Amino acid sequence: MDFAFDARTEELRSRLLAFMDEHVYPAEQVAEEQRARLASPWDTPAVVGELKAEARRQGLWNLFLPDAEYGAGLTNLQYAPLAEITGRSPHLAPTATNCAAPDTGNMEVLFQFATEAQKKQWLEPLLAGEIRSAFAMTEPDVASSDATNIETRIARDGGGTSRSSGAESGGDYVINGRKWYISGAMNPDCAVFIVMGKTDPDGEDIRRQQSMILVPRDTPGVEVRRAMQVYGYEDHSHGGHAEVVFHDVRVPASNLIGEEGGGFAIAQARLGPGRIHHCMRLIGMAERAIELMCRRAVARTAFGKPLAAQGVVQNWIADARVTVEQLRLLVLKTAWLMDTVGNKGAHTEIQAIKIATPRAVVDILDSAVQLYGAGGVSQDFPLAELWASARTLRLADGPDEVHQRSLARREIKRYV
Ligand SMILES: Cc1cc2nc3c(=O)[nH]c(=O)nc-3n(C[C@H](O)[C@H](O)[C@H](O)COP(=O)(O)OP(=O)(O)OC[C@H]3O[C@@H](n4cnc5c(N)ncnc54)[C@H](O)[C@@H]3O)c2cc1C
Repeated sequence: MDFAFDARTEELRSRLLAFMDEHVYPAEQVAEEQRARLASPWDTPAVVGELKAEARRQGLWNLFLPDAEYGAGLTNLQYAPLAEITGRSPHLAPTATNCAAPDTGNMEVLFQFATEAQKKQWLEPLLAGEIRSAFAMTEPDVASSDATNIETRIARDGGGTSRSSGAESGGDYVINGRKWYISGAMNPDCAVFIVMGKTDPDGEDIRRQQSMILVPRDTPGVEVRRAMQVYGYEDHSHGGHAEVVFHDVRVPASNLIGEEGGGFAIAQARLGPGRIHHCMRLIGMAERAIELMCRRAVARTAFGKPLAAQGVVQNWIADARVTVEQLRLLVLKTAWLMDTVGNKGAHTEIQAIKIATPRAVVDILDSAVQLYGAGGVSQDFPLAELWASARTLRLADGPDEVHQRSLARREIKRYV
């Protein structure tokens, strides 16, 4: 087995590493200072626009999208080490390179399932980094880790027969429902929501009741009600996580993505790449934590010797290194499987990395917080916010337990 990256990956890696050193890390502090002076904390600091322009100029843009015409044309295995690098500065680098969630997942959905007109209206400006988007599935009133529970109603009003593609059949859809933790929705640049709801709530097949529909943010009846916090953080740089209410929101039937009843399958297709991208970035976060741990350990003295000379600190650092190496190999294997046998064939591995990575990276960040003492939980170092961010990934895109249940059932089935 050859563990080396190919020439294109190596070349992009070295350019991306230089971009991080020259532009991204120095911009972290600048972005915070600029945000403090903005009229609204949800607006985008000017430095983010400058980073985007520079990344685009350097061709470090849309690296996530495997299609060579719309994106960079990289395989998952080629993109994995690049996403890891952007994960070291998770609040800036993914956005700077137009590789940030939830836009990446939304762009993949539009690329795979949208009509030409939908692509022109929404995919092209998203790929150009001119607008942002959000994905609205989770609802406060039902257990949304089971997507068959969602209650938002997408009701047909006028037009042709119900099971056909919305684009061809005319009429409108009227949307009513309440969603929360809709990432990116607080950002005024977020111009469109992909909303999941039920077009056929009484349908026999519970996985064909749902559909996905494009809802422009400025449609009457869309209420971005409030920002939801993450352990008290507002997550401004991610565009926040909003509660969004849809009150009789009327959009043309041509806004439906794919066909009626196809929403569940589209959600599954969206989450495969999204999950591995999160895991790649998490590994980058863990690398940043190890670097911060080592820097602090050599610079600070307690009880007459540097923290780095304490056995327990050495154990934290060694365990973190071992864990990161294990996780990276599993993530790269998963990326390789996705490229060679497809997302379906890599199902077990995608679930394995989604279970293993956030959990392990939370532990690494916790050790780093401990090593920094009070500084670790403070706003003066990135560790507390990174911890909160990594912790949410044990919930977002499916809680650990749901992946464990599904993985275990597949294992057990082989013996029944
Ligand atoms: C920071 C953040 C950002 C998010 N961004 C988005 C977004 O952009 N769009 C969006 O639609 N959603 C988003 N979410 C929501 C996220 O996807 C959901 O929180 C997740 O799917 C779980 O749904 P729930 O919160 O309704 O939990 P529930 O479904 O109520 O589950 C609660 C808990 O029950 C347990 N559980 C559930 N099922 C099982 C089972 N089968 N076996 C064992 N235990 C089980 C698990 O421990 C689970 O954590 C985000 C969440 C966070 C925290």
